[in-house]
Amino acid sequence: MRMTTAEIREAFLEYFRTQNHEVVASSSLVPHNDPTLLFTNAGMNQFKDCFLGAEQRSYTRATTAQRCVRAGGKHNDLENVGFTARHHTFFEMLGNFSFGDYFKREAIKFAWEFLTVEMKLPKEKLCVTVYETDDEAFDIWNKEMGVPAEDIIRIGDNKGAPYASDNFWQMGDTGPCGPCTEIFYDHGEQHWGGRPGTPEEDGDRFIEIWNIVFMQYNRHADGTMEPLPKPAVDTGMGIERVAAILQGGHSNYDIDIFQTLIKEAANVVGTEDLDNKSLRVIADHIRSCAYLIVDGVMPSNEGRGYVLRRIIRRAVRHGNKLGATGTFFHKLVGPLAEVMGGAGEELKAQQAMVEKVLRIEEENFGRTLERGLQILSDALENLDGKVLDGETVFKLYDTYGFPADLTNDVARERGFEIDEDGFNAEMEAQRQRARDAGKFSVDYANVTAIDAQSEFTGYDKAEQWGKVI
Ligand code: ATP
Ligand code: MG
Ligand code: MG
Ligand code: MG
Repeated sequence: MRMTTAEIREAFLEYFRTQNHEVVASSSLVPHNDPTLLFTNAGMNQFKDCFLGAEQRSYTRATTAQRCVRAGGKHNDLENVGFTARHHTFFEMLGNFSFGDYFKREAIKFAWEFLTVEMKLPKEKLCVTVYETDDEAFDIWNKEMGVPAEDIIRIGDNKGAPYASDNFWQMGDTGPCGPCTEIFYDHGEQHWGGRPGTPEEDGDRFIEIWNIVFMQYNRHADGTMEPLPKPAVDTGMGIERVAAILQGGHSNYDIDIFQTLIKEAANVVGTEDLDNKSLRVIADHIRSCAYLIVDGVMPSNEGRGYVLRRIIRRAVRHGNKLGATGTFFHKLVGPLAEVMGGAGEELKAQQAMVEKVLRIEEENFGRTLERGLQILSDALENLDGKVLDGETVFKLYDTYGFPADLTNDVARERGFEIDEDGFNAEMEAQRQRARDAGKFSVDYANVTAIDAQSEFTGYDKAEQWGKVI
């Protein structure tokens, strides 16, 4: 069955609406209720207090298409972009949630029915995992859904094995936790990778599409696990991964949204090489950058703003690699707002502002990019060994506005690494110098700081090149 990504989003929300779920809007990428979280990275974030029992709502079943960013913090997929078929910095997570309402049986039934009946995915291409001791979930899959026992894989805690996925979810060291069950799709033996629980599971053959968490216990500080009086369900399915299957492709970059963005990106940078990896990176990065700005993040030198700045600069560098001469990145905002369908409305409303922020960032970085790249190339060419020293990485950061991860990205492409510890030591030395100097001078950064959340009026020039003052 061929469906557009927008149609899949609508079908999902509609399916769960008819199962008495409240359709709730995506929350902001900047979590309003959780200062410990860098960006919203899952559908459950906005419901955290409902799961903890600290907040009561008028409904006990909800469904969302949640925008997520995984480019920092606990979940960081930035380094995967362009290397795997399935990871983005920005993606939409479709989810259904039960706050003390239904539990394992219904959650499994809903997921299976949506995939195999509504979306008509062939059952024989799906396999599932359960937590190693979760016989209840095993039996529901096996006896009620009819999944053959050999296609139900028991997965334990990640006991340090580098490949073993972890099928026990916890919000933190204490609090709600419980076993997971996940659904994987087999893209066929022409792709490298193994079933979950094997050393090759990280390949792109068996791709995880849906993760279902059964919040069943409350873990106390002494490690004891008390059963929750009202167990809950939290699920998440990546819309791009499902679209890849339903549109007959393998990679997420084959889907309608990405094909459009890749063509637009090729157009604005002036290349005809549509298979170039850099175009994928740009197509990925415009989504996270545009939506972070929509949600109030402004490029800056620390925290969320610095993550945004780093992603923008990576995109600009990839454009430069493809031969872009002027600014190009901001030109993708319009096509993106168009192609996102129902999830593009807020972006459309703020398009001019988002374009302006991106254009200014591009112009600023454009002034030092070429020179910095030249210095980096020379340093790599003259390198003894495989590791670029921290001093050079720091010089590129301090003088040319190259975030360390961008330098690493270039180095990795050419088979080198960077000395991260060395870079961090240089950073610390600079901070110390700034602290010493600060004892005798005015804190200009503070005096001239602008409120990043207020209407955009231009940047604080002092922070333009990534200097930590
Ligand atoms: P993976 O093992 O493939 O990295 P995950 O286990 O980290 O995925 P979850 O945290 O379980 O992912 O998120 C729920 C679902 O969201 C996943 O099953 C997947 O479909 C989707 N998803 C997770 N991370 C990404 C990403 N970076 N880009 C696109 N989709 C993602
Ligand atoms: Mg992951
Ligand atoms: Mg996983
Ligand atoms: Mg998972």
